Amino acid sequence: MNEIRCGSCRKLLMKARPNAIIDAIEIKCPRCGTMNNLRPVVIDQQEPVSERQERRDTEALNGQVKKGGPAASS
Ligand SMILES: [Zn+2]
Repeated sequence: MNEIRCGSCRKLLMKARPNAIIDAIEIKCPRCGTMNNLRPVVIDQQEPVSERQERRDTEALNGQVKKGGPAASS
């Protein structure tokens, strides 16, 4: 069971199994009133981070291609 906590005050909002959430949901924290947007992806997985790293790698690669490329015709 994953503990779904408020992103602002860390109050425990609910517990859910990894597959319990099949679509995006919003839950308002009863303590601080923060609207927490939750996605089916398990929060513990840092998928957004790896996605960023992929993008950075791609950008770096493109930069190298531009710099190392023989055609500097701009
Ligand atoms: Zn809260």
